[in-house]
Amino acid sequence: MKKITIAKGNGIGPEIMDATIEILLSAGAKIEIEEIEVGEKVYLAGNPAGIAPESWKSIITNKIFLKAPITTPQGGGYKSLNVSTRKFLGLYANVRPCKSLDPFVDTKHPVMDLVIIRENEEDLYAGIEHQQTDEVVQCLKLISRPGCEKIVRYAFEYAKQQNRKKVSCFTKDNIMKQTDGLFHKVFDEIAKEYPEIQNEHWIVDIGAAKVAESPEIFDVIVMPNLYGDIISDIAAEITGSVGLAGSSNIGEECAMFEAIHGTAPDIAGKDIANPSGLLQGAIMMLNHIGQSSVAEKIQNAWLYTLEQGIHTADIYKEGTSKLKVGTREFAKSVIENL
Ligand code: ATP
Ligand code: MG
Repeated sequence: MKKITIAKGNGIGPEIMDATIEILLSAGAKIEIEEIEVGEKVYLAGNPAGIAPESWKSIITNKIFLKAPITTPQGGGYKSLNVSTRKFLGLYANVRPCKSLDPFVDTKHPVMDLVIIRENEEDLYAGIEHQQTDEVVQCLKLISRPGCEKIVRYAFEYAKQQNRKKVSCFTKDNIMKQTDGLFHKVFDEIAKEYPEIQNEHWIVDIGAAKVAESPEIFDVIVMPNLYGDIISDIAAEITGSVGLAGSSNIGEECAMFEAIHGTAPDIAGKDIANPSGLLQGAIMMLNHIGQSSVAEKIQNAWLYTLEQGIHTADIYKEGTSKLKVGTREFAKSVIENL
């Protein structure tokens, strides 16, 4: 039995978390759940970070955190809890697999199967911003050699473990010669230690365009924080829906698992959201805590449900789909298929 911390978050968070947990428990996952509350309500109760001290303690003790989307106020207000969590827990690697489910889910790119590995602590996300004069503001782009080494090595080790053939690196080192230059240099150094895995470098703008146009040429892609954020959303969306992809955030001690999408306030509370993204995150969590056979059982039941054409509204398409279902009914079908 493994104790895990969960947060149901905001918007569609509670609905997709309930669906995910129901599937996990029905499949026989050996988890004991400790729920914490995060976000606006906690912030308004006097916790500037949007999370109470005892909740941090729960995450640090259990070391495994399954998190539904949380609202991040734009502009003012408390800092993004997503960003604080990654930094506070030292979650340096964000792993986002994006795979097409052709012919069962309508997609522009039927043979796409790539994994984006995004550096998660540094770059423009270090949060070092200040005002220089009345009219000039500045944000610092921070890249360190240890940070690059950790993420690049993680990408090659991941490729080796998962039997992937190639690791590509995206940077803009023709312009940012020091920061992105260091990332690229470390990539070239570490790539030499893995002669059995192909490696290549792309300038991020054309690399991103290629992901959108011919994603089938990529396998594992490693990149600095901001590029990873943008390109992984694009990659997930072109597999069919942002509602389909999950991600893991890996640190030396702790790990956090989530859907890649946000709180989707426009469809919250309507029982129509696709729980697949969070479920994919939860499957990665089960693999991480050594419950791979349960993970595989859930993955197969989920795939079979999609193959049956049982689809939520975001991926429903006349012809390809058979039955349009809500969040709860989708979860029920997955459970029946376990
Ligand atoms: P946030 O500010 O929390 O990031 P957002 O407004 O950016 O929220 P997202 O959650 O990122 O919204 O999603 C953008 C749109 O994609 C939503 O408005 C919603 O229509 C759709 N969407 C996102 N997730 C899902 C899902 N799980 N199921 C169905 N549709 C989704
Ligand atoms: Mg968003």
